[in-house]
Amino acid sequence: MSQATPETQKRVEQLREQLQKAAYAYYVLDNPIMEDEVYDRLYRELQTLETEYPELITPDSPTQRVGDKPTARFQSVRHNISLYSLDNAFNIEEFTDWEKRWQKQLDNPIEPEYVCELKIDGSALALTYENGILVRGATRGDGETGEEITQNVKTIRSIPLKLKVENLPSRVEVRGEAFLPLETFDRINRERQNNNEALFANPRNAAAGTLRQLDPRIVDQRQLQFFAYTLYIPGEDGDRPFHTHQEALQKLQNFGFLVNPNQTICRSIEEVAQYYDRWDSQRRELPYMTDGVVVKLNSIDLQQRLGFTQKAPRWAIALKYPAEEVPTTVESVTVQVGRTGALTPVANLKPVQLAGTTVSRATLHNGDRIAELNLHLGDTVVVRKAGEIIPEVVRVLPELRPENAPAVEMPKTCPECNQPVVKPEDEAVTRCVNASCPAILRGSLKHWASRGALDIDGLGEKLISQMVDRRFVKSVADLYQLQPENLVVLERMGKKSAEKLVRSIESSKQQPWFRVLYGLGIRLVGSVNAQTLAQHFPNVDELATATVKDMAAIEGIGETIASSIVDWFGIPANRELVDRLREAGLQLEGTASKPVAALHATPLQGQTFVLTGTLPTLSRSEAKSLIEKAGGKVTGSVSSKTNYIVVGESAGSKLEQAKKLGISQLSEEELLKRLNS
Ligand code: NAD
Repeated sequence: MSQATPETQKRVEQLREQLQKAAYAYYVLDNPIMEDEVYDRLYRELQTLETEYPELITPDSPTQRVGDKPTARFQSVRHNISLYSLDNAFNIEEFTDWEKRWQKQLDNPIEPEYVCELKIDGSALALTYENGILVRGATRGDGETGEEITQNVKTIRSIPLKLKVENLPSRVEVRGEAFLPLETFDRINRERQNNNEALFANPRNAAAGTLRQLDPRIVDQRQLQFFAYTLYIPGEDGDRPFHTHQEALQKLQNFGFLVNPNQTICRSIEEVAQYYDRWDSQRRELPYMTDGVVVKLNSIDLQQRLGFTQKAPRWAIALKYPAEEVPTTVESVTVQVGRTGALTPVANLKPVQLAGTTVSRATLHNGDRIAELNLHLGDTVVVRKAGEIIPEVVRVLPELRPENAPAVEMPKTCPECNQPVVKPEDEAVTRCVNASCPAILRGSLKHWASRGALDIDGLGEKLISQMVDRRFVKSVADLYQLQPENLVVLERMGKKSAEKLVRSIESSKQQPWFRVLYGLGIRLVGSVNAQTLAQHFPNVDELATATVKDMAAIEGIGETIASSIVDWFGIPANRELVDRLREAGLQLEGTASKPVAALHATPLQGQTFVLTGTLPTLSRSEAKSLIEKAGGKVTGSVSSKTNYIVVGESAGSKLEQAKKLGISQLSEEELLKRLNS
């Protein structure tokens, strides 16, 4: 077995320390210092490192114990039967691995029968009944010892003080989840806000905090509820005198407990996956919080054969829902230069699953944001999906910083052209101001050729890069000088495609004036503003000589936009560009003929899409929502009414069907292009 490097040892120590702090804040103080999802991922990282290097495990590691020691606020009680935690799976693949693991433990593989339940986000309780009467209620604590909170437990209406069935063995143990309905949680937090008290982070902490209130009257007001899920009836035949978990749930119900009704039997991984997916959307309609589903083997005999690890049963697993925020580490930072010269720093991350997709890059926005985050290379950061698709770095966990990690800084020169960059005091953005910077030129050409602008078919990113690298074009006006014989030397450019491209460039000369204006890429002049301006200034010369006051008087054009236009025309190179475009025969006059607003806001208006396969970055629901926002429609099956099929990896029968019907295919990249046009 390999030896852990000093870096790994340090990482394990840091993780252990941070997770210990977090667990104390969470279990003892009911006041978490990090999101559960972040805790779960860091915990998983520690677990993985400890499996690889068992010599690094210490007895106080959070992976070695359940919960935390009980506080001194209540009397400690030793549980008659230990309370365990649950192992986690974060997706169906991990669930499948878990199934393989427990199958391997058996002599012969079996057909599994699972009970799938919702994972209620509350606090576990251990209830003891003697001769049918509730004699003790306790928190889980560290699994062996909990806090005795019988008076508080008695305030929970869904916990029977006396079991409804007679002639039971002298002792019965019940386990379940005490929780706060969301409505009550919101009410309590509103009250706390009015009283200037600290708010509870989530219903689970509120439930745990409530259970450990010293005054049972307060607990009573908070109206906790309880779902029972485990029953022990100790006797001569062990403590589980029933054959299946479902039978135990039925008994619990007969005893007078509330059992969550949304449980079901699943006999395959596919059925579990269906249950998991179904509840991913439906859980938001429940009046209480759930953070996953719990899958348990139904057979008690099997449960007993598989037993427990130090922390959790081997016969059950919590299948958690995808996280919206996760931790990962920053491996490097690259800086991109956009068409306006703006430098955008991007963090290259250790790939991580986030809301159903793998994320390996996140925007850092600008230099100010880097300084605000105090970002260092190698830092552990929390990333989240901003809006719909672009992930961003939310915060840094400085406690997990590697030793001697260098601080991340914005470059002093442009990473593309090496010329000094500028950052005005009052702006967050750092810019390259070299007009012939290849990155700016590439961006300008891309924008010029885009659908909302000159819409030059066939002039894609790769081609643009080659043209810029070979210095075929130094401005958009140079495009109109290109001949097929110049282009054939480019990669994958035959005579025919070269001629076709020159024809597309040629026909772009017919595009109306407002599109040319938009294509110039003047800062803050989007396609809607370009149309407005084109309506008021029927030719480029009138626009070029207009004052800020003239333009600012137009509805929708403020002073900032107006100044940006005046500045643009103030630069001789830009006026020269306009002259060259005029000479080339582009439309620099005429009124806007097509309502760009509609075109821009809903570029997919009236088009029907079908999605198939796994897209590289977008989840199904993200792609659907983006298409719908852009005016398109998404249907589940291919028909003659389908305009496009968006194809991802492992596309299935829908693609076959689309091919038969001759329906156009789009990749995710092409879809995004259309959305952005
Ligand atoms: P857990 O919550 O992941 O799973 C075990 C618990 O699930 C059981 O104890 C039980 O109370 C509950 N449960 C709910 N529904 C159930 C059902 N139908 N059947 C069986 N059990 C059910 O494990 P845990 O050990 O209680 O705590 C770990 C969790 O606590 C992690 O998810 C972690 O995010 C969170 N945590 C967060 C922080 C933080 O800083 N944010 C710190 C420590 C722990």
